[in-house]
Amino acid sequence: MTRITVAEGDGIGPEIMKATLAIILAAGAKIELDHIDVGEQVYLAGNMSGISTDSWDVIRRNKVFLKAPITTPQGGGYKSLNVTIRKMLGLYANVRPCMSLHPFVKTKHPGMDVVIIRENEEDLYAGIEHQQTDEVVQCLKLISRPGCEKIVQYAFAYARQYGRQKVTCFTKDNIMKQTDGLFHRVFDEIAPTYPDIQNEHWIVDIGAAKLADTPEAFDLIVMPNLYGDVLSDVAAQIAGSVGLAGSANIGEECAMFEAIHGSAPRRAGQNVANPSGLLQGAIMMLNHIGQASVAERVQNAWLKTIEDGIHTYDIYKEGVSQQKVGTEEFAQAVIDRLGQEPTTLKAVHYTTQKALVLPPYQRKPSAQKDLIGVDLFVHWPGSDPNTIAALVGQLETPEVALSMITNRGIKVWPNGFKETFCTDHWRCRFLTTNGKLGDKALIGNLLLKAAEHQIDTIKTENLYAFDGKPAFSMVQGQ
Ligand code: NAD
Repeated sequence: MTRITVAEGDGIGPEIMKATLAIILAAGAKIELDHIDVGEQVYLAGNMSGISTDSWDVIRRNKVFLKAPITTPQGGGYKSLNVTIRKMLGLYANVRPCMSLHPFVKTKHPGMDVVIIRENEEDLYAGIEHQQTDEVVQCLKLISRPGCEKIVQYAFAYARQYGRQKVTCFTKDNIMKQTDGLFHRVFDEIAPTYPDIQNEHWIVDIGAAKLADTPEAFDLIVMPNLYGDVLSDVAAQIAGSVGLAGSANIGEECAMFEAIHGSAPRRAGQNVANPSGLLQGAIMMLNHIGQASVAERVQNAWLKTIEDGIHTYDIYKEGVSQQKVGTEEFAQAVIDRLGQEPTTLKAVHYTTQKALVLPPYQRKPSAQKDLIGVDLFVHWPGSDPNTIAALVGQLETPEVALSMITNRGIKVWPNGFKETFCTDHWRCRFLTTNGKLGDKALIGNLLLKAAEHQIDTIKTENLYAFDGKPAFSMVQGQ
């Protein structure tokens, strides 16, 4: 018996959870349930994160969590419960299998069968945003080596466990050489340790186009958080319907399983919702807790139900479907088919394996890190780069010299183009005159001097070389 935590959620949540639990229990799942309340009622009772301390205790004790969709109330600063749960529990990997069910569910891609594995904790989703000037706001894109290693290792280990032949990596490292560059480098480091699995890398824009056009070309795709968020929805939609896909959120200790769709409040309480997305989440959960034979029985019965044309309204199509059913009737149809296998769709055969738990991250030895300059960001409402160059040029000392100025990353001084549009947000790069800034106090002095000259500095960014290699972006136009 495995004790799991269950949240019925909002909208259609309670109906699809009831259907899902009925199916997996009928299939012989050895689980005991602890029910918790999360979502709309908890938010509206004044808890801004949508979850109580007691519920956290249950989730952390059981470590396995099956969650129906919830409604986040509009406005009022309510925090997304999903993001909170993923980050608080360190659920670093998001896994979404997207498979078409041709010819039973309409799709333009009959042969599609791809798993999207997305990094779940970092990237632009660190949520660190600031307004810095009247005209410019920023969001920090944070990518870490542990984050990249964990997700790439997970993707290859998943491919091996589930018999996937090829792992593809999507990044935009032709532009973001530091952040996406690190993700790609780590992929290139780890791929050769799985010689039995093919690997390739695509730039995300053309990769996304290929995915939308020829998804059969991919088997498993691993990507940073933002691209994965967008493209996993695209993949689910073109496979047939977002209503059919489930997802797993996996951490070193805990895991959460869910449908990818929301709480569909307009459909609530009418016994019409399709429980398939949550059921797919539950099947991943059963595999995760080592109950692969139950997972297999459920998946094959579900495939047979779809194949028999027993469809909820969202996938019902005249001429293809046989019978339009509600949530409860659909669940009963799956239960009636437990023990059967599909004949046109491919039956699944899962082997019992331990949950994929990777060894904890081992920190690497530190590199030689040298401070070689500083970018000083300045709020200045003027428009002539030569004027601001003269202004900040006053800050130069024998140790640091102004080397260039950029506006939104484009070099505007020296030798800028008058055509380049400039905002009120200027980056002034000071480099050391002798190769190393031995003393960080020099940066403090720069800031003090700037204040004396009424220069509005909004932030600084230290420029480092690691093991002798400059580790910051060069400049467009440099
Ligand atoms: P939604 O996914 O709830 O609905 C989008 C469309 O798909 C609607 O037309 C809906 O009727 C249909 N649909 C979704 N699931 C279905 C199912 N199982 N069967 C049949 N039809 C289904 O997205 P939305 O309307 O943008 O969001 C509604 C609420 O859900 C919002 O409060 C949002 O914050 C929340 N949400 C929650 C989660 C989650 O908890 N994981 C995810 C996404 C959205």
